Amino acid sequence: MVVILLGPPGVGKGTQAARLADAEGWEHVSTGDLLRAARRDGTDLGKKAQAFMDAGELVPDSLILDLVRDHLKGVAPEAGILFDGFPRTTAQAEGLGGVLGQVHRRVDAVVVFEAPDETLVQRLSGRRSCPDCGAVYNVHQNPPAKEGICDRCGGTLVHRADDKPETVRHRLEVYQELTAPLIAWYEKAQARLVRVPADRPVDDVQAAFRAAVR
Ligand code: ADP
Ligand code: AMP
Repeated sequence: MVVILLGPPGVGKGTQAARLADAEGWEHVSTGDLLRAARRDGTDLGKKAQAFMDAGELVPDSLILDLVRDHLKGVAPEAGILFDGFPRTTAQAEGLGGVLGQVHRRVDAVVVFEAPDETLVQRLSGRRSCPDCGAVYNVHQNPPAKEGICDRCGGTLVHRADDKPETVRHRLEVYQELTAPLIAWYEKAQARLVRVPADRPVDDVQAAFRAAVR
């Protein structure tokens, strides 16, 4: 199964993908997480991506496609894959089609998570992320047991620089302009596309997500 999670920043893609991947033993491929790891490791890619990420802009397609191609080399050919935050442009969607075609696979489902902008801004203002293991919390909805400390690995939680309200507003505009058109693009390509209302509790969204990929 190859599934794409589409939706604006803060809608819960990472939260939902991590749960399903853990339960099913599938690969969770988040380009945002891969880029943050590259930044942390100080790689060339990390250095090139930094300014785009801090400004809430998209990292250029060629860098993203190289990153994904490289990452998929380490993934078993038959593994279930959940793409989270990728593709984000039609050029990336075309590139993904090519990469999958080479291994005789294709996109099996596109799940579009939807919530109002006010919900997204509120969620992102409360998001706290673990830079060490990638776990995600929310100070309002899902706080860690000990404030500021990751339950899973003991790392120090951060409020991502790009989760500041002004950068979030810009990321939402970028989503509308460059990523939302992928919904029509995949519809035209006759992909199986399912919309999931995401403005409700995590468990309810997960149930709808599972039904969508079944
Ligand atoms: P995305 O990957 O789409 O940017 P995340 O999964 O990181 O979004 O979620 C954004 C924030 O919202 C996090 O703080 C997360 O804990 C919280 N969150 C995710 N899903 C829900 C939900 N259904 N209800 C309330 N808060 C949620
Ligand atoms: P995310 O963790 O998905 O919210 O992504 C954080 C930031 O990483 C985005 O605002 C972009 O700057 C960059 N990014 C992540 N995935 C992509 C992608 N597929 N294409 C371009 N930029 C990306």
